[in-house]
Amino acid sequence: MTFEQLGLRPELLSALTAKGYEIPTPIQAQAIPPILDGSDVMGGAQTGTGKTAAFTLPLLHLLMNSNHAEKRPRALILTPTRELAAQVDESVKTYGVHLPLKSSVIFGGVGMEPQKAAIRRGVDIVVATPGRLLDHCNQKTIDLSRVEILVLDEADRMLDMGFIHDIKRILALLPKVRQNLLFSATFSPAIKKLADGILRNPTLVETVRHNTAAETVEQMVYPVHKTRKKDLLKQLITVGEWKQVLVFTRTKGGANQLATYLNKANIPALAIHGNKSQNARTKALAEFKAGEIRVLTATDIAARGLDIDKLPHVVNYDLPNVPEDYVHRIGRTGRAGSEGVAVSLIGAEDVPLLRPIERLLKCKIESELIPGYQSAKEIDPDSQLPPRASRTAGSGNYFAGRGSSRSTPKKSGATSSSRGNATGKPRVDPSSSNKPRSESKPSGTARTPSNSSAKPKSGGEPGKFWGRR
Ligand code: AMP
Repeated sequence: MTFEQLGLRPELLSALTAKGYEIPTPIQAQAIPPILDGSDVMGGAQTGTGKTAAFTLPLLHLLMNSNHAEKRPRALILTPTRELAAQVDESVKTYGVHLPLKSSVIFGGVGMEPQKAAIRRGVDIVVATPGRLLDHCNQKTIDLSRVEILVLDEADRMLDMGFIHDIKRILALLPKVRQNLLFSATFSPAIKKLADGILRNPTLVETVRHNTAAETVEQMVYPVHKTRKKDLLKQLITVGEWKQVLVFTRTKGGANQLATYLNKANIPALAIHGNKSQNARTKALAEFKAGEIRVLTATDIAARGLDIDKLPHVVNYDLPNVPEDYVHRIGRTGRAGSEGVAVSLIGAEDVPLLRPIERLLKCKIESELIPGYQSAKEIDPDSQLPPRASRTAGSGNYFAGRGSSRSTPKKSGATSSSRGNATGKPRVDPSSSNKPRSESKPSGTARTPSNSSAKPKSGGEPGKFWGRR
């Protein structure tokens, strides 16, 4: 299947060629034809699957078929966060570069006047977060009565963030007859209810099974006491020579503290979260993308929808409270076919959060004990371990017995040894990962050659773990 075969306009095809896209991703191949046919579509796709182009390309194509002289919004794309709105708007502009269509982005946290001026100048496509869009509607600075196509992007997150009432208010301002496209990474009963109320005879398109992690992401769990997470993260980044790492923390304060700590350790880092101004967040993202900042520490909401090409490493410094957030987080890496690594630092307090994540993923995530960080006492000095940990861990290995299987389905033809590990290098002896692990020999998985300058704090076999990059 090629983009030409999908029937897209030549102007769009040349924009895609310039962007270097050769073939449509599965969600694009499935969603573009019914959207071009005018159907409502319910798309099950995580970020990283190419879903933005899946709705943006046919949307641009269709808008060119209807009257575009008037410059009143004929397409409305709603997103849960400012970052996602900005990115979708960027995509609209990129794909529509050869078309006489105008788009504008509307979100809170910045002045309303420039947005009003842009709307006054005339727009065909509005990409907006619900709250600020309603502010404009209330001030009558935008007229939504000509909207022909509505897109709800990351609808599950919009519901999580409590936007349901705002969405309903916006829907009431739109023409009754229109095309509706709803994209969501998960299909909860709440999403189905929302979809039932909006979509008419929708075509269901789905590329990734519900709630599964992107196939190209390798996931690892590293048990570590919470007081030593910072130190372990620093080691992973420096010894592993990780160049671009997105680190998730549960709180804004946690994101700030971690960024400060890493900067003191000469690892350039910035925090992004809801308390930062939009400009600060945009600047941080730009510096991170440009490689000036090595680590971005972020809360879930701030990082939602971030599009960073080929982001190699995602770290769950704290596990998320909601299992679906784990899927969203690791969706930041392994995007559009590139391999990525998602690492979770698990203290005793995170263990109750890990099980629901594994249930959602329908697999166990491989765990690895790290010399110097691995003992049950270190993870939990009060020894309040969940029963299975102490029972299964004959060796004192807190996570013994778990995580022997890979957490991600292998791509066909790929073996463990051919896949990258957290180092980006091949595993030497993948088969041994099924063996129980002992505390002093932290992993049954043989490692790539050691980095002699990097030694664990205590115990273990120095080179074995730290050679892993
Ligand atoms: P999305 O899921 O929309 O956030 O897209 C994820 C990433 O995939 C973005 O960086 C896109 O630029 C990229 N992408 C989207 N479609 C394609 C394609 N057909 N070929 C290659 N890369 C793509």
